[in-house]
Amino acid sequence: MTSPEMLEDELEATHRELKALTSEVARNDEKMRRSQRRELRLLQAETLDVLITALTDGLRVSYGVEYVSVVLSDADHDVRHLLLANGTPAEGFPALVMVESMSGLAPQYIALRSPWLGPYAACDHQLICPGAQDARSIAMIPLMHRGKLLGSINICSSDPSRFTRGHATDFLQHLGVIASYCIENTINRARLLRSGFTDVLTGWNNRRYLSVRLVEELARARRDQTSLVCLMLDIDHFKRINDTWGHAAGDAVLKELAQRIESQVRASDIAARYGGEEFVVLLPATNVAAAEKLAERIRDEVAASPIRLPNGDLVAITTSIGIAKVSPRAEDNDLKTLGDSLVARADVALYAAKSAGRDRVIVEAA
Ligand code: GH3
Ligand code: MG
Ligand code: MG
Repeated sequence: MTSPEMLEDELEATHRELKALTSEVARNDEKMRRSQRRELRLLQAETLDVLITALTDGLRVSYGVEYVSVVLSDADHDVRHLLLANGTPAEGFPALVMVESMSGLAPQYIALRSPWLGPYAACDHQLICPGAQDARSIAMIPLMHRGKLLGSINICSSDPSRFTRGHATDFLQHLGVIASYCIENTINRARLLRSGFTDVLTGWNNRRYLSVRLVEELARARRDQTSLVCLMLDIDHFKRINDTWGHAAGDAVLKELAQRIESQVRASDIAARYGGEEFVVLLPATNVAAAEKLAERIRDEVAASPIRLPNGDLVAITTSIGIAKVSPRAEDNDLKTLGDSLVARADVALYAAKSAGRDRVIVEAA
């Protein structure tokens, strides 16, 4: 028989258990939120230098530890050059360790595919944590890309029980995946900027990029037996803006225009700044009727409201747009020339729109 006392004891024990569980859930919840905030800060870093600072100083503060370093493999000094071009040499980041190769850095590196947690040993870890003092435990989080080890994030604590073999590592593993992605992404972006495919004023692709993509898109259209449409857009009487308000005002208009065009095109369309105040949009697998509708939408969006200049003045602008289409055939081998002629034909249509009075869309004559 169960006595009332026993029942009461049991009830109390269940209560305690429930309380412990509830507070564990709350702790995990808080842990998850902190982890998400950390990852968000990494994802928001647009440049390599901001990302490295977020990975080192940012994670150190956020984990409340004494030291965090980042090791990156950079055999051909590519990343170092990108950092330099960006304004801060690698040496400007004391907790960043650039290495030619990953071998011999730390014994754990040989099999580092998931976070390694354990005691810190200067003889093993000083190469990857050159500034760690009085560290007693360490978490090494691998940075991987396509199955290859790129480096690691190394979090060091003076508390020997902070990182031990028994700790769960799923949050750290997730952080490693996000960090690897962010590193790869910012490196690629820096490369792109440096290789001259990006227009500095608008952040858009430039003419060089367009000529590369044009050939790729023509090859795809030829393979899929679809057509490629080219929109060429030019601001009407743009010279007047420069003449009246100066070059900086003209630049502000160009930036705003780029944003208004971008708000209308799909992610799969290829938009580029072609020249001074000329923009091109390539529309893969699109017919002329759909392209004309899009062009009208862009023209409307640009003309819909005046643009505010840096001095506060408002200026209304209009645009003219020319449209041309190509459907590459199997025997079309010279895609470069085909692409040049597509753009030239869109340009002819654009000038027809100018001659007809501007602020309009004209499709090339069939
Ligand atoms: P239209 O309607 O015939 O196109 O007349 P427009 O005045 O727009 O044409 P035009 O080609 O004569 O003038 C383009 C001007 O754009 C001339 C050039 O100084 C200016 N421009 C080109 N690139 C830039 C730039 O990056 N910034 C600024 N502010 N102006 C630029
Ligand atoms: Mg113009
Ligand atoms: Mg022009």
